[in-house]
Amino acid sequence: MKYLNEYRNLEATKNYLKRIEKTVTRPWKIMEVCGGQTHGLIKNGIIDLLPDKVQMIHGPGCPVCVTPLVLIDKAIALMDQGVIVCSFGDMIRVPGSKKSLLEAKSDGGDLRILYSPLEAVRIAADNPDREVVFFAVGFETTAPANALSVLHAKNEGLKNYSILVSHVLVPPAMEAILDDEFCNIDAFLGAGNVCAIMGTSEYHELSTKYEIPIVVTGFEPLDLVEGIFMAVSQLEAGRFVVENQYARIVKEEGNLAAKEVIAKVFEIGDRDWRGIGTIPKSGYVLRSEYSHFDAELKFGVESISTKEHATCIAGAILKGIKKPGECSEFGSRCTPSNPMGAPMVSSEGACAAYYHFATNLNN
Ligand code: SF4
Repeated sequence: MKYLNEYRNLEATKNYLKRIEKTVTRPWKIMEVCGGQTHGLIKNGIIDLLPDKVQMIHGPGCPVCVTPLVLIDKAIALMDQGVIVCSFGDMIRVPGSKKSLLEAKSDGGDLRILYSPLEAVRIAADNPDREVVFFAVGFETTAPANALSVLHAKNEGLKNYSILVSHVLVPPAMEAILDDEFCNIDAFLGAGNVCAIMGTSEYHELSTKYEIPIVVTGFEPLDLVEGIFMAVSQLEAGRFVVENQYARIVKEEGNLAAKEVIAKVFEIGDRDWRGIGTIPKSGYVLRSEYSHFDAELKFGVESISTKEHATCIAGAILKGIKKPGECSEFGSRCTPSNPMGAPMVSSEGACAAYYHFATNLNN
């Protein structure tokens, strides 16, 4: 497959590992922002093959992991009201304060697992006597489809469709990590999928302000080692700019059509991040003219509150301050079949990646 198989080439990947080894002279800590990159690094053994001086720190870019616990409780409260709740499959096993969406379904709730929010709009059109809510979570990558679902529902005159929104943005999270007193990050691998939508332009200010290299990077083994090599090269040369390793997908300006759809429906607002707390201007909220599509307001669940699990250190892991192996619950009370926190459930979660693939919990 073009643009895929060549980025899984073993010899080319080994060559980049050798170039990293030759280039690095000092210890550097590089955060890969996206959970997909974390899984790529661990599943392919790259994390074990990097020189000791290059330490990868796992970032907050797992959309399921950063969705606040309370949003799951709110989705379950909607099911309790007889609403059809629609969700991507990766959310359904994440524990809420009492149960997961899947457990709520087994208790009689009407949960539909979908691949696209547009399917939820179709369900609403086919069931005019039922209320339908799509659980609209994720980073900039899923925002266009969720915004489009609202526009479709509006165009079709559907009054029984709304979304439960928890959209978060990558650059404010990177800034919050850099502002944290315990931050120890020297460079970032930017999330290639997010930049495919938003472009690279919004990262220049961040790189300049914090004097930190940002290399927008893809997900295949060759992407990852090339991105790490580019970051190490900048660090060794004392440079800090935005570079684009994923140029076959990512453009400086991003996807203008997708950005236009997002801007029609959403505006920037404060958002809560699971385990991290509120980050100002770190997510999307529905514009006031679309507030009747806001499920929290429509069903009166906005005041529901809850507390995170006391011993789950997901917040510290998402900020790159701790690694999964440092959690006392890892592999004992917390496993993929009995998860205490979202990073153990999600296909992009760091705890799940270490549980399934890691040969060394200290890497
Ligand atoms: S291992 Fe489980 S309890 Fe520990 S941080 Fe990960 S998800 Fe939370």
